[in-house]
Amino acid sequence: MLQSFSATVVCLLSAAAWCFAASAFSPKAVSPRRLTIGAQPALVLMQQGEVNFEVIEPVNPAARQAAAELLAGLARITGKKITMVAEASGKVPAIYLGTSPEAAKLGLLPEKLDRDGYYIKTDGNRLFIVGVDELPCLNQQTATLFGVYDFLERFAGARYYFPGDIGTIMPKKEDWSIPEIDIIERPDTQYRWIYCYPCSFADKERYDYPGQGNARNLKTWRNSSLNSIRSCHGLNDLQLATRFAKTNPEYFALGNDGIRHDGTNNKKSYHIHGHLCYSSPGLKEVVYQDAVACLTGKPASSRGISRWTPRWNTTHVNITPNDGVLWCQCPQCKPIQEQGKQAMSNHIWGFVIDIAKKLKQNGIPGMIVMDSYGVYSDMPTLEIPENIIVSLAVTGPWGEEHAKIREQGDRKLRDWSSLLKAKVGTWTYPTKACAEVPFVPNFTPRAVASFYKRQQPYIYGGFFEAGSDRWIFGFMNAYVYSKLLWDWNTDVEELLEEHCTLMFAAAAPYLASFYRELEELWMKNIVKETIATSWGESWQLPTRREVWTKIYSPEKIAAISRLFETAEKAVADDAQALKRVQFMREEMWGPVLQGAEEYNREATDRTLWTLPGGQAADMVLDGQLSEEAWKKAKTAYLLPRSDNHKVEVHTRVKILRDSDYFHVGIEADEPHTDRMTASQRTNPDDSDIWRDNGIEVFLSASFDSDFIYQFIVNSVGAKSDLRNVVDRVDAGYDSQFEAHTHIVPGKQWSVELRIPRRAMPELSGDALVGNFTRRRILQDITVQETGYIWRPWPRNIAENCGLIRWGEAPEKNLLKTGDFDRPMLRKRFIGDGEWGGDGEFRLDHEIFLTAGSSLCLEEKSNFVRQNIPVEPGHQYRLSFYIRTENLAPGMRAMVRFGGEPGGSFYVLGNYLDYIRGTTPWQRIEKVFTAPDRFGTDYQPHLEFAVGRKSSGKCWIDHVELCEITK
Ligand SMILES: [Zn+2]
Repeated sequence: MLQSFSATVVCLLSAAAWCFAASAFSPKAVSPRRLTIGAQPALVLMQQGEVNFEVIEPVNPAARQAAAELLAGLARITGKKITMVAEASGKVPAIYLGTSPEAAKLGLLPEKLDRDGYYIKTDGNRLFIVGVDELPCLNQQTATLFGVYDFLERFAGARYYFPGDIGTIMPKKEDWSIPEIDIIERPDTQYRWIYCYPCSFADKERYDYPGQGNARNLKTWRNSSLNSIRSCHGLNDLQLATRFAKTNPEYFALGNDGIRHDGTNNKKSYHIHGHLCYSSPGLKEVVYQDAVACLTGKPASSRGISRWTPRWNTTHVNITPNDGVLWCQCPQCKPIQEQGKQAMSNHIWGFVIDIAKKLKQNGIPGMIVMDSYGVYSDMPTLEIPENIIVSLAVTGPWGEEHAKIREQGDRKLRDWSSLLKAKVGTWTYPTKACAEVPFVPNFTPRAVASFYKRQQPYIYGGFFEAGSDRWIFGFMNAYVYSKLLWDWNTDVEELLEEHCTLMFAAAAPYLASFYRELEELWMKNIVKETIATSWGESWQLPTRREVWTKIYSPEKIAAISRLFETAEKAVADDAQALKRVQFMREEMWGPVLQGAEEYNREATDRTLWTLPGGQAADMVLDGQLSEEAWKKAKTAYLLPRSDNHKVEVHTRVKILRDSDYFHVGIEADEPHTDRMTASQRTNPDDSDIWRDNGIEVFLSASFDSDFIYQFIVNSVGAKSDLRNVVDRVDAGYDSQFEAHTHIVPGKQWSVELRIPRRAMPELSGDALVGNFTRRRILQDITVQETGYIWRPWPRNIAENCGLIRWGEAPEKNLLKTGDFDRPMLRKRFIGDGEWGGDGEFRLDHEIFLTAGSSLCLEEKSNFVRQNIPVEPGHQYRLSFYIRTENLAPGMRAMVRFGGEPGGSFYVLGNYLDYIRGTTPWQRIEKVFTAPDRFGTDYQPHLEFAVGRKSSGKCWIDHVELCEITK
């Protein structure tokens, strides 16, 4: 569940650089832990603000990173710059880092410890921090560094919550002593890999958050990626296609077409390595011999391979198949496919098991890495030898509120672990890549703790996919994960409480309650149910409307904002805590406010997408909009799906109704009617016809509806209808709607739909919501934009629709041509209800929002005006949409009241709120009260102007002037 998408994402990534140091790993912790700390101070490190110790330059150059981090921490603790010395003076306590002859003499031999293990030990006046340090390579151990972080955490009170001064606690000291110490430490799990996809690059620039290639940040949490035992397509690394496509075609999967998938002639990137025939004994022998060579340290060239990759090293080799396995159709493989999933899984596992057994029989050391995934995800009914390491994808922390998902994951880990008689690796997905709800914090540390605590008996560690639109949203998830997988006994409640106290001091209770609220909202409302999709199970996310009206409702937002006010007051006299509270308010809470604001702004913009419906009469269903009723009807124009594209072809939509039917008419301009790609489908109600050159109509009862009706017609008249509840499609729905298309060669194609009203009983009122789309699919002709839509939103749900209504508009626009749908007059002095002006202004038919054209002002345009019927002392709301491109100095919009004493009202351009440069369409709205007395020099008018010396362009559309009546 929920693993397929992200697993693929990660599988496709490859490491940039690596080396081949064999790096320790065991699925089980074996080395001892020891924690002996004296009760009395033994070494005095600081006295009355004076530094009383030396740091000895490490003899092992690989320990330098540990030294740098220790010095950085000590500088903050002591307030002094600390430099290292080559040898101990003997006068003050000396700190030794990394392996050294002195450490060895004391028996501090970290190579005897588990991966990432270290010693912290005092001996007289000396302190040793010693772990295995390897020079930079992919799987390097930096255990002395881990020891340094541990030392600073235990004995100086340091905490590394997230990078930077705000997120790092490093208490400054005047007097500092440490007791006698004898610590042997190592992680409970030796595989702790946090991965961040997607992570905002803006975050990287601003805060250098962890998980974005900055290994240091993850190391403060003592993470260790051990990249080489990650799963996915290890067989690719053997270059089988290059080595054997010509000589041994039988190694490769046979296609239905009789052609072997040997990596040649394949377009998709994951097919370039070919697909394999797992029945081929020759192939099995090749992979076995490759494994022998790699595990016994032979060069890759000895096997005709250009290099060993990290997944193929001297301790383990990865025999996981290529992604998207294409099942071989040879006489041996085909019958296995016919037996079903279990047989297929057994077949692939059998291939791997045979190799593992043979390695074991022949005394070859090392492990085989294999994954349970895709067609080989069913547990094999075969015995698995102990030299196979397995990892499994499960939903993980975000499934904690769902008994079914939780049990599925638990069972999978438990059953595999018992089959293997060993621990397994996990892949979990607390990532916003699986739950894209922008602006909402995915702060769920308790869910992380709850899930992982339960897996202690079964897992040797795991891969934690932790992406977010803002890294700070999930820092505590990753922190808790890291602490828990290091030490299963970590008390996470205590850890969270400590975090709040150390960070926010007197404001701790408020921030603790804020954190709880975030987690509660996420776990109970955002990841609340799942849905089966064509790519597997995924979260059924709330709509934006639900998010911003119900989950983060205005009341909830106000309450949390008040909480922050109280929190800030509580620490008003504590500068450091106040800074941290303000940081959280800005970084963790600020995005929620921004999300709510954007949603509310769009709700205002929605007034733009209104289509008045007409009355049907004497309709003939012939695809032509020639009836009188069509001619009288109002028109909506479709826009490019990409905001950067121009409208290459116009698409006009109208809607009529009578007592029995809704009639939708669409005219699609098309110069290449002979190249339109659409076919009469064999299936009479084939919902896949949306892929053709055609149109779709979406209708629903209101913005609040959770369902929507969908009608699809292609340009040759093939049709389909669906009823969708949010994203759940009901293809069985049958409205008995009719459709007819008509083509005018070289000019346009058009369609009439007649939809029985009884098929949509909920749509009985005078207002409903809808959307219209067009797909432009032409043979051999490239168009900039293939997708057009009325209200441009990616998800076809009711809340993203426009409004369709019958009857009077609630507000009357006092401007007659606010949509610029008529030619303009080229004269300064204008009649009522017409635009006129001075200069070279024009209508733009490629960039607009409504009515197929907008006003374009550019250099030499000067001004455009329309007289307006305003009355003295009355109040009005003026609104319009503006888009600009390299505009300088800016655009001015004003209402002028006939000269003195009426004066003018500046809507835009009073030198404070100029719109300059390049901006997308935005709505400008101002309320003004007309003065009590107008001048008599000219009639009151509205004016848009750029000035003769301006440069760049701007577009104006959908100007509305409405009187506000009290
Ligand atoms: Zn085969």
